[in-house]
Amino acid sequence: TDRAKLDAKALWRKDKDHFIHPFTDFSVFHDQGCDLITDSDGIYVEDAKGNRFIDGIAGLWCVNVGHGRAEIGQAMADQATRMAYFSTFNNLSNAPAAELAAKLAELAPEHLNHVFYSCGGSAANDATIRLVHYYFNRLGKPEKKRILSRNNAYHGTTYLAATLTGIASNNWDFDTLDHLVTHLSEANCYRRPEGMSETEYCDHLVAEFEETIERIGAENIAAFIAEPIMGAGGVLVAPRGYHARMQAVCRANNILFIADEVVTGFGRLGHFFASEAVFETRPDIINCAKGLSSGYAPLGATLISDEIYEVLGTPQRKGGVLSTGFTYSGHPVSCAAALKNIEIIEREGICKNVREVGPYLEEQLRTLSHHTTVGDVRGSHFMMCLENVADKATKELLPVEARVGDRIAFEAQKRGLIIRPVGHLNIVSPPLIWTRETVDRVVAILDEALTAAT
Ligand code: PLP
Repeated sequence: TDRAKLDAKALWRKDKDHFIHPFTDFSVFHDQGCDLITDSDGIYVEDAKGNRFIDGIAGLWCVNVGHGRAEIGQAMADQATRMAYFSTFNNLSNAPAAELAAKLAELAPEHLNHVFYSCGGSAANDATIRLVHYYFNRLGKPEKKRILSRNNAYHGTTYLAATLTGIASNNWDFDTLDHLVTHLSEANCYRRPEGMSETEYCDHLVAEFEETIERIGAENIAAFIAEPIMGAGGVLVAPRGYHARMQAVCRANNILFIADEVVTGFGRLGHFFASEAVFETRPDIINCAKGLSSGYAPLGATLISDEIYEVLGTPQRKGGVLSTGFTYSGHPVSCAAALKNIEIIEREGICKNVREVGPYLEEQLRTLSHHTTVGDVRGSHFMMCLENVADKATKELLPVEARVGDRIAFEAQKRGLIIRPVGHLNIVSPPLIWTRETVDRVVAILDEALTAAT
């Protein structure tokens, strides 16, 4: 960017006066204004003042192939100049949407061969539930409607996705569609009941699921939705075997198993999809977004099994169509970005990099456990989190006013690293091109930041 042409002060003013920022604390925002991120390259971003930071959050868990990939920009420009947009309703289509659907069917578990496009993760989840309800209606089971989700899950913020979301503070002063969703306990190994082994904890969570089905009635439950590893809810890794056992319960009760791979998909855990490769599950539906296009363009996708498609794809009643979809379903420029993104992931062996560097990142972040506030370091591969506490023995939290996550993130940013504070947590979810050397630099910065902040 030619910084001389960027009048940062004027931009801040416009931003502050007119841009309603998502997920922003207005009391802080009104005092401090915003940080303008103006430039990016590889693992780095730069602000309007010319400060350079290592991006520790891949934008927002999404810039998987790293920043400034000219070839993605070029693919988008080529598509935009050739044919930027045309409808995909009725029988219309476009080349990138068709190519990408076929590529996703190739990458996904074998039985997932059908793709419904949306504009992001929330919309993908929302569209999925609409399709699931439609599926059961067409099977003659209109009472099978309720979706089981989990406390602390994050599935987005459209009305329905926000209802699936189980992070209580996300819905403070908002309404939710409670008749559609029931939340189970999250799988939180760090805060599991005292004295329970991991195996007993897993039994306990599965038993809760079975009791909930018994109470509500399997005939009233359409689906169970879960992130393979909970992201925004605190990077919670379930006890070993949990997902496979939950899926077995779903099978036994004719409940669909939906994996929300918006964060875990496209390499973050070392594979294009984590469900089968890491967690040995075979979801009926996988949702993805974020890493699908590495954030270069908005895009979400619902990957649907052959079995479900058999019902969705049968002709509607006379005069009807499958009346769901968005103007931008299968947007050619977004699909062109995703195709190039996937080509880069494959060509550069990015999943392999995550499998090699990921365990090193985990191991090195764990060396920070000696800091007095670091109660837990958890996650897997390029999806990690520090949980800060007042007392490691009791796991008691620091008061909210202490803003411990914010303070640590602030000290890290001063030293050239952006990580994400979420309450008392600090999330590290970097571009998937970090090397061991990057990890060493990051951990050294975090070590200093923790000392300075706590
Ligand atoms: N699902 C998961 C697991 C997510 O982490 C997110 C976003 O962080 C979403 C859904 C929502 O995606 P979007 O913000 O693109 O609507």
